[in-house]
Amino acid sequence: MKPLIVANWKCNPQTLKGAKLLFNSIKRGMKKIRNVEVVICPPFVYLLTSDKRQATKIKLGGQNCFWKGKGPFTGEVSPKQLLNFGCKYVILGHSERRIYFDETDEMINKKIKAAISVKLNPIFCIGETKEEREKGQTQSILKSQIEKGLKKVSKKEIEKITIAYEPAWAIGTGKPCDTEEAQKMSLLIRKMMARKYSLSIAKKLRMIYGGSVNSKNARDYIKEADFQGLLIGGASLDPKEFIKIVKTISA
Ligand code: PEP
Repeated sequence: MKPLIVANWKCNPQTLKGAKLLFNSIKRGMKKIRNVEVVICPPFVYLLTSDKRQATKIKLGGQNCFWKGKGPFTGEVSPKQLLNFGCKYVILGHSERRIYFDETDEMINKKIKAAISVKLNPIFCIGETKEEREKGQTQSILKSQIEKGLKKVSKKEIEKITIAYEPAWAIGTGKPCDTEEAQKMSLLIRKMMARKYSLSIAKKLRMIYGGSVNSKNARDYIKEADFQGLLIGGASLDPKEFIKIVKTISA
């Protein structure tokens, strides 16, 4: 399985010109990259800027979607709309959505099921806050996010899902989870998945790490902490740094 590198542009950049510049710079840097799967998740309004991505094999993803297919849901985007726009992935359960938009595990579960039903691959984000970690609740929080977020997701469906371990305290803070701790967390999540599904499913599961990744620490999560990819926020807005990260993974 190729490592998966996902760029989460969040609510950036502010202009179409800026989005095109960023996309094209990354596209140029990806020309000779073969052994890494690169996905860009721009704001919905810029999904079209990437319509010439075929030559570079960059894939597209949404940063969120709604659980209903269509209808009177002002401001929402359906999984099918993302799929029909050329997206292969959708980020769901990102901690910023849990925190700022009060997304619950139940809502995330509905979104995951809706995405899978149209063959859009969810990148399911889980992770504890600083406060939860300090109170020693990390394990119970992850367990609850997995149990509720993946409620009634079958063994067959789970193959479509990538789990992103993203401790909220590491996101955008410049304080990444150290490799040793990240390794413990990947083992813990795999054990939970083995208990919920099966050992072979847990072994095959693609898990990625996110939280203040840069070109200096990126490789460690893959080589030393049993992650099969990365979710990158801030550093994905700097094309030179992002390309450097992809190149360190592909080397
Ligand atoms: C993210 O937004 O998922 C993320 C990991 O952000 P950053 O890389 O900026 O910490």
